[in-house]
Amino acid sequence: MRSTTTAQASIRTRVRIPLTFGDGYSTIAQAVTFDGLADGREHLALLLGEPGLGEPGATPLVRLHSECLTGDVFGSARCDCGPQLREAAERITDTGGVLLYLRQEGRDIGLYNKLDAYALQDSGLDTYQANTALGLPEDARDYTAAAQMLAALGITELDLLTNNPDKARQLAGLGVGVRATVPTGVHSTPDNLRYLRAKAEVTGHTIDLAG
Ligand SMILES: [Zn+2]
Repeated sequence: MRSTTTAQASIRTRVRIPLTFGDGYSTIAQAVTFDGLADGREHLALLLGEPGLGEPGATPLVRLHSECLTGDVFGSARCDCGPQLREAAERITDTGGVLLYLRQEGRDIGLYNKLDAYALQDSGLDTYQANTALGLPEDARDYTAAAQMLAALGITELDLLTNNPDKARQLAGLGVGVRATVPTGVHSTPDNLRYLRAKAEVTGHTIDLAG
């Protein structure tokens, strides 16, 4: 059960990490870890650019990125996670803000279940139908820990970089002020087109897929 009053988390460590992506893009992150997160997982906040946290009137650009081992690390073309992560790093660096890297592999069904779902998708199901066929939720993600991280960073209002209306809804329900929703780019490939189409049609992601 989600609660509108989230327990308080606190900052554990801040450490500087220079980042370089596969295409050569570089930026510098201040990585922040936390104590007291609701689900007990090791989520990470990356502060990028000049987020102006704690300054009056500052509205940082924030992305909630759910971990995707295959996409983020190995460059899988079955989803758009890798390109979205890369895009977010640059856009947040330019604007100033925070990337929350949430340990919610496969919309939080886990890596092995995600690969089981891929196998079902290869027989014709879409990404949501495959989860259902496995007896798993279409999307199991809960953003309570994300709201706790934002609160610990002193962020009460933000612009949210996302195409996923559920993220903005959940954050608002957790007491986070979402001033605006900023869409991400569309990163379609022949291999992820069906996946992106399902996100747009089943869960109302704002993804403009021409054709
Ligand atoms: Zn992915």
